[in-house]
Amino acid sequence: MPIYAYACSSCGLQQDVMQKMSDAPLNTCPECGKDTFAKQLTAAGFQLKGNGYYVTDFKDKPKPKAECAPCGNAGSCAAAGN
Ligand SMILES: [Zn+2]
Repeated sequence: MPIYAYACSSCGLQQDVMQKMSDAPLNTCPECGKDTFAKQLTAAGFQLKGNGYYVTDFKDKPKPKAECAPCGNAGSCAAAGN
């Protein structure tokens, strides 16, 4: 479930809220009760997760050189063409 960063423009409260994508966004501040509680554009937790995936993806998958099945030569081989 994604975590959204919320902030209240009345009392300055900042809070991370875990919500389903389908959930309606909150607008009532749990601190002061005003309707000035709003979702912020940056969701730190969500972004961090995305970056982590990206890094491990690069590390764990060194691209192996294509090997010719019949003769075992890496790279250019006449038999690899067909
Ligand atoms: Zn507030």
